[in-house]
Amino acid sequence: MNTKILDLSNTSSFDSALALAADTVRKGGLVAFPTETVYGLGADALDPEASKKIYAAKGRPSDNPLIVHIAEPAEVFDYAFPDSRGIAEKLCSSFMPGPLTVVLKKKSIIPDEVTGGLDTVAIRCPSDPVAHAFIAACGVPIAAPSANLSGKPSPTRASHVIDDLDGRVDLILCGEDSAIGLESTIVLVTNERVKLLRPGFITVPQLESVVGKIEIDKAVTDKLRDGERPLAPGMKYRHYAPQAPVTMIKGEDSDVRRFFAEALLDGSAVICFDEDLEFLGGFSTSSGAPIVFSLGPQNDHLTQAKRLFDALRTLDRKEVRQIYSRLPEKDGVGLAVFNRLIKACGFCIKRIGEFKNEDNRDLR
Ligand code: AMP
Ligand code: MG
Repeated sequence: MNTKILDLSNTSSFDSALALAADTVRKGGLVAFPTETVYGLGADALDPEASKKIYAAKGRPSDNPLIVHIAEPAEVFDYAFPDSRGIAEKLCSSFMPGPLTVVLKKKSIIPDEVTGGLDTVAIRCPSDPVAHAFIAACGVPIAAPSANLSGKPSPTRASHVIDDLDGRVDLILCGEDSAIGLESTIVLVTNERVKLLRPGFITVPQLESVVGKIEIDKAVTDKLRDGERPLAPGMKYRHYAPQAPVTMIKGEDSDVRRFFAEALLDGSAVICFDEDLEFLGGFSTSSGAPIVFSLGPQNDHLTQAKRLFDALRTLDRKEVRQIYSRLPEKDGVGLAVFNRLIKACGFCIKRIGEFKNEDNRDLR
């Protein structure tokens, strides 16, 4: 397939790019577009055949449902039923537009192909102005997973989308880097409970300040046993995994830095914090590429969120056999960074120094 790639920074062609994108969607085609979380791969959510094309282009298992993206918060209840306690309405008015996805009982207008056969639908209203303009121009809800090949880190830059999907989709809208860089927070809302299925930029304390105490799905931090099924089907897949195995290192700062320095000498790559850099300077692969990638300051979760997927993609391109990473704090947005890293490393945490004999439960 010949993929059109349009640069949105050229403002004179913005309107025509959007018109072409909307036309492509209305004809059942696939359009990748920027959002504040990560880039999405969109199609008409009311057209089952268009959704099937998304699964094919990404190589995504058909039981992993898509998020439906809408232009205005009020549209949530065109496609889903509110819960009996008014929790969904509260969440929508507090956090939409923005990086929150709510999962609710679906209305029949949403095809089974979009929800992987579930009787619930996940809905989000992006705040990014380009995403909003694109969805509004389409005039239909947009089914959109992240615009990466299945199993690769989600794309936070247009170049990531082009790397994965050039030749597999009709159109790629190239905008700015994603402002947040991690996928949306997902909450399941039923008449009985609110449950966090995937952590993101909207944090547990923020959610609880609006709806009271919420549950956290086990799959957010724990490895599920064989046969256990997460409530968000996508959480069961080995996501965000680079070619080289990733291991998170838990220890005192000085122990972790010593471990990293030795690992670098051995040809491994390192994902660290800014504070570690002065202890790790000057390492590169034989081709000269650096193999130390800092996520940002140790206590700056927002910067870590923004850089994580770029780190995984960047190191994936180098000839490294092993990637070692710092372990982010699990408070606030740090929980989302931790969740994505723990999946990238297949729940592999190595404990060193005084943490050496700690049991394997690192969680919550
Ligand atoms: P992505 O679009 O790549 O960020 O993936 C969407 C995520 O939303 C996946 O983890 C899905 O399993 C999850 N999801 C979508 N629809 C539902 C639903 N109806 N119930 C639970 N999780 C869902
Ligand atoms: Mg994804």
